[in-house]
Amino acid sequence: MSTPARPANRHHKRPRGEGQWALGYREPLNKNEENKKNDDGLNVRQRIIDVYSKRGFDSIDPADLRGRFRWFGLYTQRKPGIDGGKTAILEPEELDDRYFMLRVRIDGGQLSLEQLRVIADISNTYARGTADITDRQNIQLHWIEIEAVPHIWARLEAVGLSTTEACGDTPRVILGCPLAGIDADEVIDGTPQIREVNERYIGDQAFSNLPRKFKTAIGGCPAHCTVHEINDVAFVGVVNERGEPGFDVWVGGGLSTNPMFAKRLGAFVRPEQVHEVWAGVCGIFRDYGYRRLRHRARIKFLVNDWGAEKFRQVLETEYLKYALPDGPAPETPRGGRRDHVGVHPQRDGNFYVGFAPRVGRVDGDTLHRIADIAERHGSTRVRTTVEQKMVVLDVAPDQVDSIVRDLEAADLRVTPSTFRRQTMACTGIEFCKLAIVETKGTASGLIEELERRLPDFAEPLTINVNGCPNSCARIQVADIGLKGQLVVNDKGEQVEGYQIHLGGSVGLNPSFGRKVRGLKATAEELPDYVERVVRNFEKQRNNGETFSE
Ligand code: SF4
Repeated sequence: MSTPARPANRHHKRPRGEGQWALGYREPLNKNEENKKNDDGLNVRQRIIDVYSKRGFDSIDPADLRGRFRWFGLYTQRKPGIDGGKTAILEPEELDDRYFMLRVRIDGGQLSLEQLRVIADISNTYARGTADITDRQNIQLHWIEIEAVPHIWARLEAVGLSTTEACGDTPRVILGCPLAGIDADEVIDGTPQIREVNERYIGDQAFSNLPRKFKTAIGGCPAHCTVHEINDVAFVGVVNERGEPGFDVWVGGGLSTNPMFAKRLGAFVRPEQVHEVWAGVCGIFRDYGYRRLRHRARIKFLVNDWGAEKFRQVLETEYLKYALPDGPAPETPRGGRRDHVGVHPQRDGNFYVGFAPRVGRVDGDTLHRIADIAERHGSTRVRTTVEQKMVVLDVAPDQVDSIVRDLEAADLRVTPSTFRRQTMACTGIEFCKLAIVETKGTASGLIEELERRLPDFAEPLTINVNGCPNSCARIQVADIGLKGQLVVNDKGEQVEGYQIHLGGSVGLNPSFGRKVRGLKATAEELPDYVERVVRNFEKQRNNGETFSE
């Protein structure tokens, strides 16, 4: 007797492909993928030079304007005067201004004074004096006109800087410890590896069509300042059992929606292998990464589905073609803060001096002033940090008091309050098309108010302010994370405000902040709210307990 045919189950669904190239899904599954397939993002550079900068804004192909321009760090700014309530309901072109934000990538945060002065000049000449230090060590300029872009590139490139792959579905700027090569306690200097990955792969079409952005950190900082927990791939300095310094690899960290901490692969990478391991991890992302839905197109989703063991096995067998040895986990991070603010000794007997501009906002004149101050005190190089701060290196002991005085006089605080030191803010509604609320001004006002109300508060406390549900200012890992949204005030009006997340952290015991249900504050109520939280924390904390505990 033959087995009856199984009735067709109309509800049985075949597993749906996620658009992974390695599984044969080469046909684009959405508009973004189609644009990337039609023409590589890197090809837009020549069109900007030959066509758009000559014929002006209206000549720009929309697929370049809203897509490929990002491959060179260019985003249209938000048209002024459009309130946050319109962000989600207007078409992208209705939000577009005719000016651009331009992101200058500063790999490892490393700048010579010459480079700093070039950025300062560009800011004053082409960007109405704007300059924001980002939490990925970049400097962002605003009000850029398309006609100016080739001139800006020429000036940046003449001093070894670039905007290539500063945005877009590409390997973005590589984070590095600002103290690489000078810190007495560093495990290993990651500078040669940052340089090598940059020189080999940035601007290479082998890695210029990724499912989405890809963030890298390489550092041997004992304070783990490059926040490896929230990067797509991170190399963290370790010493193996034979006493050789190298790197421990982490993959799949990221915030935004569905925040996830990176996972350790447990493999030891020798310094000379870093570039090929980087290329392997980035290659896995390119080939196996999910491309169907933009919000699932980060490597963290793949790592989460595969697990660290399978990820390492695919890396070794399909990409490296050799096995990596097991290696140790990084040491417990050195105590204290990761921002490198203040005066501290270098291993050569000189000092580094870290300072805190207000929420990363500087301007062309201030950048010039920083270069002049550094030069007057015998330094030739500065660094940006991943906390929107800067550091002057190589200050001789007899110059320290004077440089501190000069920086402080320029409102660049070397001994800032906790609030100035640990408050970060993203770009917000002033320039960002996704923003719902203002951020930089609100955060600056909050700092001032808290300094006035709580002058003696000196405990570490991070306050991160975002203008929308994305996480450019890392709200989920702040002690107090403020996610911009419209809220209703006590008069029943819709006004700018924030959803509160409490108790997030990176470091020893990383955790995501808890979204306190229903807990929102209007921008106006913010100082009262934060003051209350801080006073309660001071009252209720046990000895030595930090805010996130
Ligand atoms: Fe823009 Fe939102 Fe990012 Fe802030 S968090 S810069 S508002 S996308």
